Amino acid sequence: MGGRQIALKWRLNAAASHSSSRRVAFVYDSDSPHLRFSWEWTVRAPGGPVEHRIRIQNLSSQEVWLPLQDSFRFAWRVASKVSLEHVYIEKGADTPSAVGTHEVKVNEGYAWQGTSSTYARPLPHQPREIIPWFLVERTRETNSGWYLGIEFSGRTRLSLRRDGNSLDGTIALNPSPGPFRTRLLPGESFDTPVIFLGAFDGGIEAAGNVLRPWVRRVLGNPLTWNNPNYPLLVNNSWGSGMEINEARAEDMMRDAVALGLEMFHLDAGWFRGPGDWYPNRQKFPHGLAVLADRAHHLGLKFGLWVDWTQAGSDATPGALNARDPKIRDWLVSDVSGDWKPEPFKGQTIDIGDPAAKAWAWQELNRIVRDYRLDMLEHDGYLVAQGCVRSDHPHAPPDSRDLSITRLGSSYFVESSNSTDVSYHAVEAYYDLYSRLRKHHPGLLLEACNDGGRMVDFGSAAHTDYFSITDTYDPLSNRRAFYDASHALPPAMLESYVEKWPTPTLDDFRYMLRSGMMGWLTIMQDTIEWTRMQHACAREEFQLYKSQLRPLIRDGDLYHVSQRPDGVHWDGMEYFDPHRDRGVVYAFRGSRRAEAVHRFVLQGLRAEAKYRVQFHDHSSRDGIFVGHELMGTGVRVHLAAPNSSELIFISRDSRAPADGNREGDISHH
Ligand SMILES: [Zn+2]
Repeated sequence: MGGRQIALKWRLNAAASHSSSRRVAFVYDSDSPHLRFSWEWTVRAPGGPVEHRIRIQNLSSQEVWLPLQDSFRFAWRVASKVSLEHVYIEKGADTPSAVGTHEVKVNEGYAWQGTSSTYARPLPHQPREIIPWFLVERTRETNSGWYLGIEFSGRTRLSLRRDGNSLDGTIALNPSPGPFRTRLLPGESFDTPVIFLGAFDGGIEAAGNVLRPWVRRVLGNPLTWNNPNYPLLVNNSWGSGMEINEARAEDMMRDAVALGLEMFHLDAGWFRGPGDWYPNRQKFPHGLAVLADRAHHLGLKFGLWVDWTQAGSDATPGALNARDPKIRDWLVSDVSGDWKPEPFKGQTIDIGDPAAKAWAWQELNRIVRDYRLDMLEHDGYLVAQGCVRSDHPHAPPDSRDLSITRLGSSYFVESSNSTDVSYHAVEAYYDLYSRLRKHHPGLLLEACNDGGRMVDFGSAAHTDYFSITDTYDPLSNRRAFYDASHALPPAMLESYVEKWPTPTLDDFRYMLRSGMMGWLTIMQDTIEWTRMQHACAREEFQLYKSQLRPLIRDGDLYHVSQRPDGVHWDGMEYFDPHRDRGVVYAFRGSRRAEAVHRFVLQGLRAEAKYRVQFHDHSSRDGIFVGHELMGTGVRVHLAAPNSSELIFISRDSRAPADGNREGDISHH
């Protein structure tokens, strides 16, 4: 306070504390200065992890500065002979790396840290950002363990260390670059980002099959999940790039309807300029509402790309102009005299500043209302990473360590205040999106953030789906899905499927299915597809809606292969134990000599009989006992490299108990 550090004396306030089977809060008071500290654990669902946060309230009449408060710090005792494995997952940001899902032995002396932010700029000398979550498993005997995650999109850090008989670490806002400090005005309170902590038996797949439904139930938007058509099938206009216009959009929409798609998503290219979020009249002479009406008339939903925190150089009324003296102070830094925005990227405003946030609120409402949106997508650099302003609510930058880098049209600021800047900006983003959902019930929100840079549990709580990578070929889509689906509901994981060489229909199906394991967005000009490809796609989309989508929403998920490498086979199994039904997505890699593969399935009843149906008839259908499918596995034969098959598994109650097989394929 007033530039001095003050030691605090906390005393338990039993009257304000609380304990029940669902919530525990221990409350402590400090008299001088008058602060209140609350240490809380909450149970929001009958299964899955428990949540924790710390709140500090400033009840004094003076400004107080807090140093970094860890969200959670742990030191478990662990016997030295216990063998442990650490699992952590990279974001698919930019492009998925060759590893993605890390499974590392936790030996004596192990020391790891992982970070997450909304930027995830992978530099060659820096480790990639992770989805802010990790898991520790006892690998011998039990396959039991625990996992820890943080529900926040701003700058966070997780650590894990094994030292003698101690396994310790923290999960918190990122203290680097430090020293972190945050301001608390009289009456204000500071909340550490919420963390969740869960335990499991039965390995990582069992952990995921508890965590993912928990994310859906506790963090997800009930209105979204109550729609049986979620996740939607989408056509995105980026297949036409920045060349999109009204006539082309209408043609694409008509084709989307013919294909059985459910939403038309107008991507970048529709507006006058960054920050000037009004339709370009040369391209869209009748505006966007007319186009939205057209989509609705055709039975499509209408979604729109808007990077609403970007300022540009347009001076037209309503535009956010980086040189306007009224808004200049909202920018994370001034722009130079020669500065120009890129075609769809400008300079970020700090929505942690109340005036900037108020503008964003008006603008978001106008866009959603006037353009009659069913879905709003935001792109990257939404959350300020650092900020030079001293009159914003966050801590001021430190002139001694302030660095400003220009990359394209964006200025990036780094200083000891970076984490506090991201803290305030993320809180503002969450507040805006929570209010937007209240004002526009049913509106879907997509977090794209430069493709896969904002895949975390905070955005899972405030948006409906996220783009999981910025590289859209079949292998990258499958890799990003393999990684992210360990911790997040597949329905929320969007794969954009871009144009890819498909000389045969096998290749074409392989391309589509590589993006059909979660939320599918086609990012191609489908009008260019051949008649055969149209027919094939129509069939695949129908199959998605009738058979795959229910499993993607409600089924358990099993990673039944190594992570995809494009050379060997890979696959993913869904099985819904309530419907006794599942599917295996099988992908054959490029290797000539590998025409046959066995997928060992999981989640079935050992003694039950299952009908196994090869959708493309690559093998004969048959009936198998659960323990066969979970033992030697299901045998798949595909003649062509880069091809695929969908194998449906359903409980067969009619089959005789002694196992009279139709078409025995287990002897091959
Ligand atoms: Zn700022």
